[in-house]
Amino acid sequence: MGLLSEGSPLTWEKTKSLADHVRKHGIKQFIHQYRQLKNLTKDVLYWGDEVEYMLVKFNRSQHKAQLSLKAEPVLEKLQEKEKLSPDDHPSTWRPEYAAYMVEGTPGKPYGGLMAHFNLVESNMKLRREEIQHLLEEDEVPLSLTCFPRIGCPEFTSPSYKPTPQEGASHSLFFPDNVIYPGHPRFRTLTRNIRQRRGEKVAINIPVFKDKHTKSPFVEDYQPLGDDGEGQRAAKPDHIYLDAMGFGMGCSCLQVTFQACNITEARHLYDQLTPLCPILLSLSAASPIYRGLLADIDCRWTVISQSVDDRVKEERGEELLKNYRYRINKSRYDSIDSYLSYDSVCYNDIDLVYDKELFSELQDAGIDKLLSQHIAHLFIRDPISLFSEKIDQDDTTDTDHFENIQSTNWQTMRFKPPPPNSNIGWRVEFRPMEVQLSDFENAAYVVFIVLLTRVILTFKLNFLIPISKVDENLIAAQKRDSVREGKFYFRKDVLTGSSPPEASECCGERPKCCNIEDEYDLFSVDEIINGKGSDFPGLIPLMNMYLDVIDVDVDTRCTVAQYINLISKRASGELLTTARWMRNFVAKHPSYHGDSVVNEEVNFDLLELCRKVSAGEASCPELSPCYSSRTTEDIPPAVIKAEAKLQTKKQANMTHDNRASNSLKATS
Ligand code: GLU
Ligand code: MG
Repeated sequence: MGLLSEGSPLTWEKTKSLADHVRKHGIKQFIHQYRQLKNLTKDVLYWGDEVEYMLVKFNRSQHKAQLSLKAEPVLEKLQEKEKLSPDDHPSTWRPEYAAYMVEGTPGKPYGGLMAHFNLVESNMKLRREEIQHLLEEDEVPLSLTCFPRIGCPEFTSPSYKPTPQEGASHSLFFPDNVIYPGHPRFRTLTRNIRQRRGEKVAINIPVFKDKHTKSPFVEDYQPLGDDGEGQRAAKPDHIYLDAMGFGMGCSCLQVTFQACNITEARHLYDQLTPLCPILLSLSAASPIYRGLLADIDCRWTVISQSVDDRVKEERGEELLKNYRYRINKSRYDSIDSYLSYDSVCYNDIDLVYDKELFSELQDAGIDKLLSQHIAHLFIRDPISLFSEKIDQDDTTDTDHFENIQSTNWQTMRFKPPPPNSNIGWRVEFRPMEVQLSDFENAAYVVFIVLLTRVILTFKLNFLIPISKVDENLIAAQKRDSVREGKFYFRKDVLTGSSPPEASECCGERPKCCNIEDEYDLFSVDEIINGKGSDFPGLIPLMNMYLDVIDVDVDTRCTVAQYINLISKRASGELLTTARWMRNFVAKHPSYHGDSVVNEEVNFDLLELCRKVSAGEASCPELSPCYSSRTTEDIPPAVIKAEAKLQTKKQANMTHDNRASNSLKATS
């Protein structure tokens, strides 16, 4: 979940008094880094995935599934192994927000070879096994986006009582003991977000109205110790949640790419942005919160509301008096601006940014769009600061910059190279919900990485106004958006965008832009699988690419299985995890049609999730299979064959050229 500086956390009052200091030095650190690294080039498109797991304990005699608060000791062991062979350990482990979560990434990034696609699933499998080895027989790591009974009494093992009047969250439902105890960052963020906001966070999720759901759906929080704040904040017909843990205690699947250079990173950042809502809709996996069926399928808005530290003035509920900006979004939200100059026309949201810091960035020679982006991130206050980290050397440290950057949890993240590393400019794709099996997770990861290659090779253009991407993100979270939603998407993705003349392009939105005709409403199926002669579809484009590049048989076969899964999820032939969970609940004998997911249903659902993850149960409506031809190592012959291809590439016979020629021939 971002920067893990060590040290003693400061109080909110002290952190607040140092906010300008952090921003001032954070900007200087960025400027220094930018100057050093703006021309850094890397010839390999490195990439890697991140999976967040939950540790679940099954009490089979009591028919009860709980979250096991063991992440700290488990993580210690996982990291011990990692430290023993830091250069060739297959996995890397990090803490996450909750004491039941661990986050795993591959030990080394994957590279440019097609055959790397065949390693992903096997590495994910190995990670799952690594965790499993450290657990008891009745515990499992589940890649579950949201634990259905999160925040219900005794949802963890051991169980704790919430403390509504004290501690970090003041929650009626989510005890502070459930926050990861091994690093002070998580509790500090929780307390500071609440204190900055001046009240508890208030998360309201529409409840799914079933035949017997109470109507209006209203709960009484007084017996839980509510002093009235919860009752006031809760909206009728909504599931009310009141702690950061309800959001940041959700898990996701992220992918980070290293681009060749800063320009390519900015380009990928922009091109992947319109895909965020589409992939959120396709990966939807979280329809239940606090034991209640919701009328949304995705975690996104839950996390967004769970870390919303804006005060009323900033949210536009009161006139601005003591604060500087009216801010239209939470810190965890969709991005507000594209970063490349050929995207300027599509930046149609009024960007809120710190004008002074913006001038400083411009004066340092940083172009307008990037300066605006950074100055936009820097409208936020630091919400966790350690006493040991106040004074830093701005030419070598980047902690203050990272402090603000890593608490802007947006759909996409643009990442400068870390100091003293061998890493280039990167972008992170952050919207996807995590799937139950390694096969499915590998499919989503490979799909998005492959898509970046197709974008770069075919010079695809997905840009639409950023306000439309925002509308899509809301549409994506609705129940069954894959089958029923409509999304704005660019009609012609094959004509690469035409940047305004460099001379006239200064980051202003050119007046001549007439972009309303460029997009239309599509279903996810049409976007992914195509719409007759009107729209080619992302998968047909991907297949065109795969047909002309050299891929070994096993990798081709694996990739085909992954593409098949995504294609069928898009068409509705296969269910999203969210829809599959809803169906399970609806059919369960102890579900009473009242939106309540009780212990019994929760247990049986999670038991089935466990079997799906382990490949013990087949659910053909969710996934046609649970394992591909994935391999642990790339066979030497494949490396040799692909190396030959690289040589050809140098001789200007690139597969990219061949692929784009094939596109010209067919389009
Ligand atoms: N768990 C968060 C999510 O589901 C992401 C936290 C992170 O940035 O790693 O989106
Ligand atoms: Mg994470």
